[in-house]
Amino acid sequence: MQLEGSCHCGSVKFSVEAPSPVPFMRCYCSICRKTAGGGGYAINLGADAGTLKVRGKRYLRKYQAVMREEGKPDRQSSGQRHFCGRCGSALWLWDPTWPELVHPHASAIDTPLPVPPENAHILLDSKADWVVVEGKRGDPRFDSYPDFSLAEWHERHAKKKGTRR
Ligand SMILES: [Zn+2]
Ligand SMILES: [Zn+2]
Repeated sequence: MQLEGSCHCGSVKFSVEAPSPVPFMRCYCSICRKTAGGGGYAINLGADAGTLKVRGKRYLRKYQAVMREEGKPDRQSSGQRHFCGRCGSALWLWDPTWPELVHPHASAIDTPLPVPPENAHILLDSKADWVVVEGKRGDPRFDSYPDFSLAEWHERHAKKKGTRR
């Protein structure tokens, strides 16, 4: 599926191919919350980095968070959070550790996206106290990272759809 995305002021527009862009993964970590998640979490999609086309590149800015853990030296995250330098919209995350993947923020996508059958809630150990996890019973919840990849989740749900009718 071809996705079109943009920042709020329109200076940056992008398109990218995503095999199954279901916005189901909610990340409650402090970086997502502060940079993109006014409601307490942000939703990222998985897409094919090789197909990413960007207009307005000169307005793009990158943010690499510094991770602070007690008893460990500060470490800069390899994840590059791209945003619009004019309006501040969070656009996508790209990490050279997985160069073939790019994670657009669902909030930046203009193409209609499918409604997810469930939501996965991740990094709950970093959740702010005031954030109430709004989800269905049976939604996968993880204190840290999930025990499945985006691709595995899609595969499982494709199978379910196939057998349930
Ligand atoms: Zn903008
Ligand atoms: Zn996060």
